[in-house]
Amino acid sequence: MKYESVIGIETHVELATDSKMFCGCPVRFGADPNTNVCPVCLGLPGALPVTNEKAIEWIVAIGLALECDIAHRSQFHRKNYFYADQPKNYQISQYDVPVCSGGALEIETGGRPTRVRINRVHMEEDTGKMIHVGGGGRIKDADHSLVDFNRAGVPLVEIVTEPDLSTPQQARAFAQELHSIVLTLGVSDAKLEEGSMRFDANVSLRPSGSEDLGTKVEVKNMNSFRSLERALTYEIERQTAVLAAGDRIIQETRHWDEGAGVTEGMRSKEESSDYRYFPEPDLVPVEVDETWREDIRRRIPELPAARRVRYAAQGLDPDSIAVLSGGGSALTGLFEDAVAAGADPKVIANWLLGEVTAYLRRETVDLSETALTGEHLRDLERLYAAGDLSSTAAKQVLAGVLAGEGNPGEVAEARDLIQISDAGALSAQIDQVLADHPEEYQRLRDGDAKVIGYLVGQVMRITGGKADPKVVSGLLQEKAEA
Ligand code: ADP
Ligand code: ZN
Ligand code: MG
Repeated sequence: MKYESVIGIETHVELATDSKMFCGCPVRFGADPNTNVCPVCLGLPGALPVTNEKAIEWIVAIGLALECDIAHRSQFHRKNYFYADQPKNYQISQYDVPVCSGGALEIETGGRPTRVRINRVHMEEDTGKMIHVGGGGRIKDADHSLVDFNRAGVPLVEIVTEPDLSTPQQARAFAQELHSIVLTLGVSDAKLEEGSMRFDANVSLRPSGSEDLGTKVEVKNMNSFRSLERALTYEIERQTAVLAAGDRIIQETRHWDEGAGVTEGMRSKEESSDYRYFPEPDLVPVEVDETWREDIRRRIPELPAARRVRYAAQGLDPDSIAVLSGGGSALTGLFEDAVAAGADPKVIANWLLGEVTAYLRRETVDLSETALTGEHLRDLERLYAAGDLSSTAAKQVLAGVLAGEGNPGEVAEARDLIQISDAGALSAQIDQVLADHPEEYQRLRDGDAKVIGYLVGQVMRITGGKADPKVVSGLLQEKAEA
């Protein structure tokens, strides 16, 4: 029997708000353990939560970017479970009325589009973080465990797809597109390696062409796009082998072991009823009226898909499009500024991905630490287009501007890089070269085109490399024909 895989993805995004979801504690990664905590996020008796308005604004923005319906009125529920990383013994989450429901995200793999329906996008709070000491960091062989509650109560958005994906490659493309959207919206730092964006993948097999869903397995702990794809590929092979042996798939949660490249059983999945959801009595419902919703919609920036179309129309190459539309590059703002100021998009994209990126890497600085602006890039491009700078000189000027030596005109002057492209200014030097090389001059007049490179070289030499070789070559041609 031939099987096909069915995949649905649950994504958690930690919002980069200043404060936590229900208290005023700061949201900051890397602080000393248990320093960003208070009675509310520690769940001490009598402490009362208050909803973070910014977090609601941001989940609505995510929902709108994913074409969801936004509930006018939604509610928080308590999800009850007992685990050491959960100080209140319940997580404030959402149940039957999430903030956003029923959207879609279109992705592309191998040139083919797939529309992935979004079931829901709901608001919840993050748990604390467990550190298992000894035994390779996993709880099963640990000597003891430590808990850091700094993350407890951080606003967490969960995005749940319908099971509309069918391959690990599609799953990866979906995760990457969602990542780009979250970065573009600026609502999270979305770092997979730090866990501020996490993907759980649900996967099942069914006989090819069947409409029914098979028993699903949930795979956790993938902290890169690549491991998401690898984990799914492994899990599909594992399930295929189980079915081929005549066995049944057990519904469970499995842990992806990156080093070993395998998934391992963790625990059988709780049923929803195990969580004894009930409405959170300490919080009022979340109300998003039309005015607020439309105001949020107006402030949504251009999303990656639209940006890709626009950049392709501007003639950018695929690498530039990928980097500049991904939402995560500081170069995008600079590119947009330069183009808005009237510069040629292709030239600017090449400089940004080439010279500028190389400079930042070489000097280990952030773009924000340099003085480079969109206007600088526009001015530089004008000098280059006018023939005042050769392409080599333009790159040197760019390095000077990045290093804070001034604007392109100033750097070009100071570094003496302005190219002589004015025919009048070059005429005397050309005449001198022709006088010094009568033999070559004669060959040129006899129509020997090969000699022109040599003569151009001589003019470059006596002008200290500052003559525009194209102009020199044209002038030599004219003299030969005169
Ligand atoms: P649970 O109650 O176990 O959390 P849900 O119905 O909420 O399950 O679905 C969780 C995720 O699993 C969703 O992304 C959904 O699309 C996906 N999913 C559900 N059933 C299947 C299945 N049979 N195969 C693959 N993915 C599935
Ligand atoms: Zn707190
Ligand atoms: Mg679920």
